[in-house]
Amino acid sequence: MKRIKPRPGVRERPLAERAAQLADELAEAIGEDKVSTDLPTRLVHRFTHGPEALLHADLNDFLPALVVHPRSTEDVEEALRLANELLVPVVPQGGRTGTFGAEAVKNGMALDMCSMTEVLEFDEARHIITAEAGIRIIDFLAYIEERGYMSPEFPTMNRVSTLGARVAVHGYNKFFDAWGPSGHYVRALEVVLPFNAKAVWLGDGSKVPHKSQVGLCVMPLFFGSKGALGVITKVTEFFIDRPEEIRTGIMAFEDMESALRAYVELRKRAKMGIWRVKSYNRWFVAQAASAFNIDWPEEAEQLVEFHVVGDKDVAELLERKAYEICKRFGGFWRPDMPEPTFLRMHGRMEVHMGLGAIWSERMKRGGLANKLVPFDPALPDDLLAPFFKEFFPLLREIEDGEHYPALATCVKVLSPGAPVPAYYGWSKLAGRLLVNWKRFDGEARSEFKDWFRRFAELVWRYGGTLTMTHGFIPRELRREFVIREVGEGAYELMKMVKGLLDPNNIMNPYVLP
Ligand SMILES: Cc1cc2nc3c(=O)[nH]c(=O)nc-3n(C[C@H](O)[C@H](O)[C@H](O)COP(=O)(O)OP(=O)(O)OC[C@H]3O[C@@H](n4cnc5c(N)ncnc54)[C@H](O)[C@@H]3O)c2cc1C
Repeated sequence: MKRIKPRPGVRERPLAERAAQLADELAEAIGEDKVSTDLPTRLVHRFTHGPEALLHADLNDFLPALVVHPRSTEDVEEALRLANELLVPVVPQGGRTGTFGAEAVKNGMALDMCSMTEVLEFDEARHIITAEAGIRIIDFLAYIEERGYMSPEFPTMNRVSTLGARVAVHGYNKFFDAWGPSGHYVRALEVVLPFNAKAVWLGDGSKVPHKSQVGLCVMPLFFGSKGALGVITKVTEFFIDRPEEIRTGIMAFEDMESALRAYVELRKRAKMGIWRVKSYNRWFVAQAASAFNIDWPEEAEQLVEFHVVGDKDVAELLERKAYEICKRFGGFWRPDMPEPTFLRMHGRMEVHMGLGAIWSERMKRGGLANKLVPFDPALPDDLLAPFFKEFFPLLREIEDGEHYPALATCVKVLSPGAPVPAYYGWSKLAGRLLVNWKRFDGEARSEFKDWFRRFAELVWRYGGTLTMTHGFIPRELRREFVIREVGEGAYELMKMVKGLLDPNNIMNPYVLP
């Protein structure tokens, strides 16, 4: 395989000039309609829902020189070939709902995958589907559901996020406890590799969509690779038979510890049919309720919600069992308590994003809305309660005005972290801050980085990992924090793999700085 070399003398020329040449040559090669250099399109593709943009005074730090809209694998190959020759950074983008990794690089190329949306194969007998990487998850799910089946793939932002990005972030799904992260549903992948700009099909040790010992199993390298190792162009995933029943239940608890014990007991039954459990603290519940003019009862400190999935009779049985477990730990519900449908994340996330606008100055004065800043460390189940006991005061410091005066004027804790199952014995705390972007100035930026460091130290002290889904670490702290988490040896290995696949370091260079 021939490695693509930069053109002679290219390193000496400014990036902006090289990128402009790339735009011209690429438009010539794949068609003018697939290459945009107009300012509005470039502005749209600058940043993502992620918080990194908050930490930059000048949003032009992210302004790409060109946005490319490939419609085929060959278009992607051509884009990577020229980007290598002219040494222009490339950031693959899906729906840009990702909270880390899809921000464009100044004067680089944003590779917008959202025009590659075809379903290429639906193999009912083998329960596999192959689609192009830019298909939106909502369309992917609808295609499967219309044929009477179901995909375990179900992220919160399913209306916008794309199939290739799900693999690239190794995402968290609604039924993770039963089915694992996105990479676990993948049977094969087509990836355009940067070093030779050629597409290759990878399976689980073979090219066919089945586990094999014929070759090396390199496909998982691309799970969670966040666009740093290549561009995913096609994905083959399995789907499952649609279950007869999905039942949801919820119970309230007077204290957090009891609720978390019930939550852990429930999640042990993921493989038996309790596919999802989640626990919410009243800090979040009462705030979310207030947005709907609902008063949340004082005594309901923590909620535990569960989904039971399976054949009708089995689901009935397991639902009874789930309620029994909750009651054993003090769970209760009264008819006068508010209907908790406003909590259901997967149906309501758009409302939360909307609240970000309402609670900002946008409605009055226009301009920027509030920004959601997610945090999602994963911690051992047995340490959840002690962790929260230390974490809540740390979160309160954001709002109290004494510890972080600048943050107190522009950050609100929307959710202090709602545990959902991670790998067995672990949970991820899905939490969110809401930031008034207009008021988030230099002081707030520096206070936020200080707070984030203390948050990281706390997570590490409890033996946790910093971010299970979102990947966000302020860019400035990223190298140091990645090394702290993975260790020097693993970091060097990661850099070596990146160097082999992407010797000119054009792919998403901020992912592994
Ligand atoms: C409010 C909110 C809730 C969220 N909840 C969840 C959740 O429940 N579970 C979860 O997993 N995530 C969640 N996320 C994060 C994000 O929505 C998902 O990870 C989503 O799947 C990202 O898809 P996207 O198409 O928007 O990717 P993008 O943001 O466009 O990209 C994400 C990363 O993948 C890379 N990439 C994109 N396409 C390709 C490709 N074809 N080849 C190679 N690399 C590629 C990008 O370079 C980037 O690094 C949430 C985000 C928000 C804002």
